[in-house]
Formats: sequence, structure tokens, C-alpha cells
Amino acid sequence: MIKEWSLDATDRRPFHEEPSVSTRHYRDAWMYMQEGKEPLYLDDGRTMFLPAGSKKGLTVEELSAYIQAMDSCESFEQYAEQLFAVWVVKAGENGQMATCSCPVGMKQRVCKHAITVGVWKGTITIPDVAKHAVIGQKRKRGRPTATRPALVRQD
Ligand SMILES: [Zn+2]
Repeated sequence: MIKEWSLDATDRRPFHEEPSVSTRHYRDAWMYMQEGKEPLYLDDGRTMFLPAGSKKGLTVEELSAYIQAMDSCESFEQYAEQLFAVWVVKAGENGQMATCSCPVGMKQRVCKHAITVGVWKGTITIPDVAKHAVIGQKRKRGRPTATRPALVRQD
């Protein structure tokens, strides 16, 4: 325990704390992984592009069109539309969390894409509790809906 702690303290660089990952993040990532997304990798082997929405993968043509469009956007609306079409995920170095360009990733510094990439790279394992949370739907909050009285016809 002490040894672990001291190792941890020396390995960790200040000002670069890992973001906190909740079961919810893991669960979202686990569900996302079931969609079978296929990323496109950049030559550096660290940067990958994931399609946003229901698309499964990107072609090289789509990616170059995306990059070109990002370079030549004429309006903010155009830019935003392009920005949210593809997520750019950069795998972390030395087992650190990947970074992602999606809104959740930008805000919380961790998202389902970053975790998924970590799993692919072998640096993250999804805890079983997050996998189990997916099985079966959650019950709705509050009392179960009571059966309503049958309508009575007034003659
Ligand atoms: Zn993301």
C-alpha cells in the first residue's frame, strides 16, 4: 500500500491530473463499444477519427472532405456543423486518458470515446459493474403507475 502510494506520487506529474471517471462514463463507453465503430487512424498512430451519430465508420474520402471543409468554412454555422460530424480522439501517452473533441470530452476531460480508445489501447478496463448496469432497463423513478379505473359509459 505504502509502496503503491509512493510510486503513484512520484510518477504523477503535477498539473496533469487524470480526470475522474464515473461508472456512468464507463457504462456509456461500454454501450458505445457495442456499436462497433471503426476509427480511421492518422499516421502518428495516436490520432483517430470517429464518426459522430449513427455512422459506423469513415472513409478516407469522407475524412479528407471533413478536413478540407474545416479549413474552408465560410460561416460559424458551417464550422459548427463540421465540428460535430467527426470526433478527433488522441490517445494519451504513458497510459494517460485520451483526449476527445466532442462536447462531453471538452467539458469533462473524459468521454465514452476517450474511454473506448483506452480500452482499444489496453490501458483501460471497463469495470464489470458498468457492464451490468446496461443489462435490463432502469426502472422509472417514483411509484409504479396505478391502473386507471375503466371508463364507465353514461347512458
Ligand atoms: Zn468524446
